Amino acid sequence: MKKILITGASRGIGRAAAILCASRGWAVGVNYVGNEAAALETVAAVQEAGGRGLAIKGDVACERDVIAMFDRAADAFGGLDGVVVNAGIVAPASKLADMAEARLRHIFEVNILGAYLCAREAARRLPLDRGGQGGSIVLISSVASRTGSPFEYVDYAGSKGAVDSLALGLGKELAGQGVRVNAVRPGVIETDIHASGGEPGRAQRIGLTVPIGRAGQPQEIAEAIVWLLSDASSYMTGSLLDLAGGR
Ligand code: NAP
Repeated sequence: MKKILITGASRGIGRAAAILCASRGWAVGVNYVGNEAAALETVAAVQEAGGRGLAIKGDVACERDVIAMFDRAADAFGGLDGVVVNAGIVAPASKLADMAEARLRHIFEVNILGAYLCAREAARRLPLDRGGQGGSIVLISSVASRTGSPFEYVDYAGSKGAVDSLALGLGKELAGQGVRVNAVRPGVIETDIHASGGEPGRAQRIGLTVPIGRAGQPQEIAEAIVWLLSDASSYMTGSLLDLAGGR
């Protein structure tokens, strides 16, 4: 049985990954920041799918919260073998010229600082030379890191560029210590993130322009995440895996 912590697992891609992990019988820490009802729904779905679920509140951009969420999951499960650094946000579509400093700070704090703090915490616990058992870290980036998301979210796109770099560098740092690090780069996926950016129908609209002809489903990203967590991907590290329907 693997012991996994997923940030931002109350909804969307994180929730789908939690449920798929559970279907393998794995234990899953379900982190969320504010939506407790959604987190508890995910935990119920995890348990129904055959895994063990634990809801853990915490803001990934807050170091104290990140340390506490790792402690909580590791104490409950008896250690951790896998971490999915998934929590991420967008703000309403805008040109860079019109973005306020507060917005830029918030996006970078959650998407960059949050990802780095969570990956750092994993890098302090999983490696063999730090007393861990090895494992897998999966970072959730985006195809935005290579499209740049002009006129919508160049801030978000840049934050995902940082996540790509983290996968490339940390993958090499930990390769000799039994820990693999990879990033998944989804294209447009049907989740709540588009409504939080002010356009609930964005995934369907963009989906029509994707070569495959539609937006993706969270479960289609979860398949890759679980594969990267599993021993089936044992020779893959420091890589970026695009799941974007040909985009
Ligand atoms: P979503 O449906 O909006 O869910 C966001 C999740 O992140 C929720 O569980 C939310 O918790 C949590 N969260 C937000 N801020 C947090 C914070 N500061 N600390 C801890 N948790 C926090 O998002 P999604 O579409 O599944 O996106 C998941 C990841 O995939 C993100 O990194 C996103 O950038 C990436 N991605 C998404 C798409 C897409 O089209 N959907 C495409 C490419 C990449 P609460 O429920 O408590 O608010």
